[in-house]
Amino acid sequence: MEVTVACPGCEAALPVQAAEVPAEIACGNCRRTIPLQFSDAVTGDQSVDACPACEGRDFYIRKDFDPKVGLAFVVAGATISAVFYGYGMDLVAYGVLALAVIIDLAVCRRLGDVTVCYRCHAEFRGQFERTAGAFDLHTADELEAEYAKQLGR
Ligand SMILES: [Zn+2]
Ligand SMILES: [Zn+2]
Repeated sequence: MEVTVACPGCEAALPVQAAEVPAEIACGNCRRTIPLQFSDAVTGDQSVDACPACEGRDFYIRKDFDPKVGLAFVVAGATISAVFYGYGMDLVAYGVLALAVIIDLAVCRRLGDVTVCYRCHAEFRGQFERTAGAFDLHTADELEAEYAKQLGR
């Protein structure tokens, strides 16, 4: 599986191949070295049981796309649609809006999902079995605070 480690110093995204079991990764942006500890399940692409970057064991699943891109699509569609609507071309307006939503859904579906570490926001992509639950704000608040303390922020 591919792991995208989030640098604790500058939040740069650092992609790592778990199969190569690197002992650490250097951030090209802020030069911080992040030690990594891969579990057998992560290395073998079986499941995500422990985060190699922060040793956390709490994960959630989200759609593998940038929510901002999805939203931009719908907003753009709605804007174009409003212009047609303004010219009295209702049917075209509805058509454009429907198309924007269909494209948005198609993009989400194609990209599948990604498992994310609650603490350090490392992302996991691969063929492994999805065992994590949906995002929970309460858990996120608690674990992010704990991780921040751990980093000494
Ligand atoms: Zn960095
Ligand atoms: Zn983590």
